[in-house]
Amino acid sequence: MCGIVGYIGYREAWPIIIKGLHRLEYRGYDSAGVALMNGGLNIYKKAGKVSELEDFTQGVNLGGHMGMGHTRWATHGAPSDRNSHPHTSGDDNLAIIHNGIIENYSSLKETLISRGHTFKSDTDTEVLIHLIQDIQEQTSVDLREAVRIALNEVIGAYAIVIMSKDEPDQLIAARKGSPMVLGVGKNEYFVASDASPIIEYTKNVIYLNDNEIAYIKRDELLIKSIDNIVQTPYIQELELKLEMLEKGGYDHFMLKEIYEQPRSIKDCMRGRIYPSEGQVQLGGIKEYAEKLKNIDRIVIVACGTSWHAGLVAEYLIEECARIPVEVEYASEFRYRNPIISEKDIVIAISQSGETADTMAAIEIAKQKGATIFGVCNVVGASIPRASHAGVYTHAGPEIGVASTKAFTAQVTVLTLMAIYMAQQRGTITQSKLVHLLTELDNIPNLIEKCLLSNEHIQEIAEKFKDSRNFLFLGRGSGFPVALEGALKLKEISYIHAEGYPAAEMKHGPIALIDEEMPVVVIATQNSSYEKVISNIQEVKARKGIVIAIVTEGDTEVTQMADYTIEIPEADEMFLPLLATIPLQLLSYHIAVMRGCNVDQPRNLAKSVTVE
Ligand code: GLU
Repeated sequence: MCGIVGYIGYREAWPIIIKGLHRLEYRGYDSAGVALMNGGLNIYKKAGKVSELEDFTQGVNLGGHMGMGHTRWATHGAPSDRNSHPHTSGDDNLAIIHNGIIENYSSLKETLISRGHTFKSDTDTEVLIHLIQDIQEQTSVDLREAVRIALNEVIGAYAIVIMSKDEPDQLIAARKGSPMVLGVGKNEYFVASDASPIIEYTKNVIYLNDNEIAYIKRDELLIKSIDNIVQTPYIQELELKLEMLEKGGYDHFMLKEIYEQPRSIKDCMRGRIYPSEGQVQLGGIKEYAEKLKNIDRIVIVACGTSWHAGLVAEYLIEECARIPVEVEYASEFRYRNPIISEKDIVIAISQSGETADTMAAIEIAKQKGATIFGVCNVVGASIPRASHAGVYTHAGPEIGVASTKAFTAQVTVLTLMAIYMAQQRGTITQSKLVHLLTELDNIPNLIEKCLLSNEHIQEIAEKFKDSRNFLFLGRGSGFPVALEGALKLKEISYIHAEGYPAAEMKHGPIALIDEEMPVVVIATQNSSYEKVISNIQEVKARKGIVIAIVTEGDTEVTQMADYTIEIPEADEMFLPLLATIPLQLLSYHIAVMRGCNVDQPRNLAKSVTVE
């Protein structure tokens, strides 16, 4: 959500900033803008894509060695040129870019208006830069101090970068609750929302912590807390590779990421499973192996697709490890008074590791004494840092906004956790462990097989690309798969879709079924096979069109369904990993045929850093 790039050094800033903004496009945005120090503080901004900003600045002299750029995901004020960032102070001396929300902007704005400030936009961000100007005018402190005082007055979440006309050799960056990375070069520094704009120039990065302010000159970096205490930065080396951020011959990142799944799942299991010994080793949570024997309950907090992975985990953990599991939307959990104790383990799932609601849910659970396990993809992000322990998904950077490989990697990690817990608690026999892990080890190969249905799925997509509604049904762990299938289709093709437990259909959605309604049913041969067949009959009796995901070689469902997509046979525990693949491809092809922007669907953001 929103992208920030800043540069100060000896290179031309504009191309670095524009390239960086392109790299951050995947996060989701609606407007773009740049402030450039070029014989003055010049601002270029526009609603729309970064490429539109480039067109808009054709022929302009864009030289200069310091600047900052922003892609905005509007929270306060419609996407428009006027509301795009950077925003400036009343005297146009200062400029700011901001990711997040200033929650008390309205009262601050009132006070500032009463002191004579006038505003050019509807954003919360503009209030902050006026506040900084106001503090400077009232107290005659320097800019550094004014920023610090202002941030102490602000409630909310932010990653900001500030430039001043009067200090053409300094960027000021700060964060609280929104991600920010500093790239450390030789006589140059970079600032960005994630490492993708930086990787080309340096591998040395500093993840800024909450409540820290960085004062950056081309040859000097000072980091202080907002209480004015000097911090010692920790420079880390990035593992990210540039190829990981490129499409590698695929039409879209989403397709590339769907096809990467055999590899990403392998990476996720590497060094963690020992099939012949029936052993799972999870270094990230091993300190808690004893605790796992005695816990009363697991609560999973997550949002969106990660919440679906959590629902899969509920089935797996209860089945294997016999621990009661509750799965909560982080955004709901945080605003209740949840009953949590030190006997609980809370698993927080988030691809980016920055999801604001999940982060807040962690804080609440921690205050109540729970142990937090993080399941995240981005190494070093806020959630893993806030967790007591955790397991990374190691899926590699996911650029497509609609999650694919990160979801299956989450499900893989949660499967490993379920088996690990079972191992600790002795709820599963050694021979079953060997059997499960041997099958799990082979899942990447079975996913390769699922991908072979691509053309067949494309043909099905062609038939349904103009549908206005879709229903997805599944039972057991097929239910979260149905939810995820529906969400994927909604996200990227803008077709209305609902996921339902197949048996619940009778209690409402069945009213929607007619000859226009495609119903995707997860109907693989597992413990609920017979029951699902009855549900298919119910759909057919009402003239619905059934697209069934079936086990290879199936004949019974195949006779009833209008279309079938086969997946290989596997233990029921691994059904979600396999059945998800054809649904990803179906959504992908439908969206492409409808001319949708698959990698950057409208209104969506990749990492949701505002609540
Ligand atoms: N709240 C700010 C705005 O609406 C920043 C949004 C963002 O994170 O892009 O302009």
